[in-house]
This record gives sequence, structure tokens and C-alpha cells, in this order.
Amino acid sequence: MEIKVLVVEDEEAIREMLELALQQSGFIVELAEDVKEAEALLDRVIPDIILLDWMLPGVSGIDWARRLKKDELHGEIPIILLTARGAEEDKVKGLDSGADDYVTKPFSPKELSARIRAVLRRVGSLAGQSTIEMAGLLLDSEQHRFSIEGVTVELSPTEYRLIEFFMSHPQRVYSRNQLLDQVWGRSTFIEDRTVDVHIRRLRKILAEHGRDELIQTVRGFGYRFSEKH
Ligand code: CA
Repeated sequence: MEIKVLVVEDEEAIREMLELALQQSGFIVELAEDVKEAEALLDRVIPDIILLDWMLPGVSGIDWARRLKKDELHGEIPIILLTARGAEEDKVKGLDSGADDYVTKPFSPKELSARIRAVLRRVGSLAGQSTIEMAGLLLDSEQHRFSIEGVTVELSPTEYRLIEFFMSHPQRVYSRNQLLDQVWGRSTFIEDRTVDVHIRRLRKILAEHGRDELIQTVRGFGYRFSEKH
């Protein structure tokens, strides 16, 4: 599935960096310098998602986001606001405008790609997508198959659900309790350390392919699945 991303960013260097990084992640990229250009673009293409800089000359990103969300034709397009601001109140303001997510500069291209996919998954655009690929790992939920660098890896049902959860929720830290809820379901009566046992097994399997560092322990919190260390 081709995902079209519209980037609205007035700074040329950032625009070019985003274009390159997003293309490398497999996205189709459309660029606009400001809202005026972006609106002209929307007349001929409907992107799957918009990356919108907050500080733009003329109409600001946040004002345009607010306007777009009321627009019948474009109101459903998810928006990620890009900004140098990091203050909590700005974040709230950004999300109040109707933006679906908020990324503070500077950000890594990998993080941004992951956030784009997470937002698209949330709004259902990726619902029909049955494979997730990351760091040489491939999960095919239709065939219920997991492989590393093309080699099929046998997993227990729990290990499969765990890797499926991690691969569809990368970068974020989850506590043992959250993992229990998400992977085992709320109604199960199992202990926190069961999570550790399964994580240990999954790590061992990944280690055979040199990928165990993908599952990271965040001391005092839980676990994170990430390519970054
Ligand atoms: Ca700007």
C-alpha cells in the first residue's frame, strides 16, 4: 500500500531532510512551503496524512489544522504537527486544534516514520495492511508468520502476540501491567513476572538472529521495542 504524505514546512533544509527520510521509509512525499501551496496541492491530491509545521509564514499550521478538520472533504486526513515548541500547554493547544499527534523538533526520521504509521494505524488507514516490517523482522498477520531476514521463526502463540504488539507499537515504553492487558487480556490472572519469562524467551529467539537488542528493558518502567538504543 502506498502512503502519501503531504509535508508543509517553510524551512527548506527541514523540508528536504523530511522528503529524503520519508522516501527512504517508503512513503510518497508531496511538499508545500506554506498553507497556500498546500491548499493548491489538495485540489489535485488527497494525502493519507499531513505533516504540518506549526510556525509558518501567513496562516499558521495550527490555524490551518483547525480549519482543515472542519472541512468536509479533508477533515478526515490525520495531521501530525511539527514544532520546535515543547511546552506542555503548547502541546495541549496543538492537540486541541484537532491534530492527531505532535512531534517536537529535533526528531529522528525513524521516530517520525514510526509515529506516522502509529497514527495511520489508529485512524484505521493501515487496518487492511497485514504485514509489518522492522529491522529485518517481518510479521505477516494474514499468514500468521514471523520471519527474520527471510528465515521463518517458530513462535508460541504468546510469543507471537507479544512480537505482534511490539512491532505495531514501537518506540514507546510499556509497563508489565500494560503488556499483560494488551497481550494477555485484562481477564487473565497471571503475575507480572510471567511477562518477564515470555520476554526472556522472545529475546533468546531474537538473539539467535542477533536482534535481541530490539527489546529493551527500561529500568523501573518496563519494556520498549526499538531500533534505537
Ligand atoms: Ca517553520
